[in-house]
Amino acid sequence: LRAAEEEKRANPAETTDGHRVAIGANVNRPDQVAFCLSQGAEGVGLMRTEFLFLERGETPSEDEQYAVYRDMIEALGDRPLIVRTLDIGGDKQVPHLDLPHEENPFLGVRGARLLLRRPDLLDPQLRALYRAAKAGGELLIMFPMITSVPELVTLRQRCEAIRAELDAPTVPIGIMIEVPAAAVQAHILAEHADFFSVGTNDLTQYTLAIDRQNPELASEADSLHPAVLRLIAQTVEGARRHGRWVGVCGGLAGDPFGAALLTGLGVDELSMTPRDIPAVKARIRNTSLADLRALAARALEVGTPDAVRALDRAPDGKDA
Ligand code: PEP
Ligand code: MG
Repeated sequence: LRAAEEEKRANPAETTDGHRVAIGANVNRPDQVAFCLSQGAEGVGLMRTEFLFLERGETPSEDEQYAVYRDMIEALGDRPLIVRTLDIGGDKQVPHLDLPHEENPFLGVRGARLLLRRPDLLDPQLRALYRAAKAGGELLIMFPMITSVPELVTLRQRCEAIRAELDAPTVPIGIMIEVPAAAVQAHILAEHADFFSVGTNDLTQYTLAIDRQNPELASEADSLHPAVLRLIAQTVEGARRHGRWVGVCGGLAGDPFGAALLTGLGVDELSMTPRDIPAVKARIRNTSLADLRALAARALEVGTPDAVRALDRAPDGKDA
């Protein structure tokens, strides 16, 4: 029974009509890799590196970071590892960095905005990553909270300078799509990014103007809101114009219905908490891409998250 279960988990997320979605895990530390593989992950779709900075109580050195990235790559073998550069600010404050107080940290110097102002944080991280890439494996670099084309262009230039200095291989460079401006300009950003990963947690917060931590509004901060889904559809469309692939690494990817909908919207990769993987795979394997596309098209035409959810039971418009 155990062997059968393991085999089932290892099966790809492939629809009944043969469309395959890549399945990644959101994992922060090398010691979590074995569990994520046992759940059926095909790689790491999101390594949140802020944990490296939070757990130690001090900024990790370039060498310390290099060792962690190398351990991750080695634990994964030839599977892909997407490392997101430091995403500090908003709900992720790091006391020992002594950043200035902000009235609205979610709208402040967060993610890429901080990296662009703090080469002392950005450069050692990029150096550690390119050194790790030099030693083999399949590494991808991803920048958080991108809002504009110039941010991405500047960060790419920094990557290229460091890569050249270290004589390291080129590495795909992607961005998080988690701000409405980025989703709306996906067709332009896609010229400069090798891939996208949609952060539905922040994209929902910034689209609906709901603080993702406010318990009073938790039930309204719903990633199935059709406005959020439309932005994801726009992201996929923009990426396609330049032949880029699109992942989703926010919470919606780990919800079986959400994952089905995202697949119907044309998302190529879903990355989630490892324990969510088996149910998501089962859901995708249960349906055809044709049905999921029809479901997604309907979801874009209704007015509320509840109306989207109702389609779960009647994807073809008939009663389930
Ligand atoms: C997101 O915003 O959906 C995301 C994956 O990033 P984080 O939750 O780390 O902000
Ligand atoms: Mg985010």
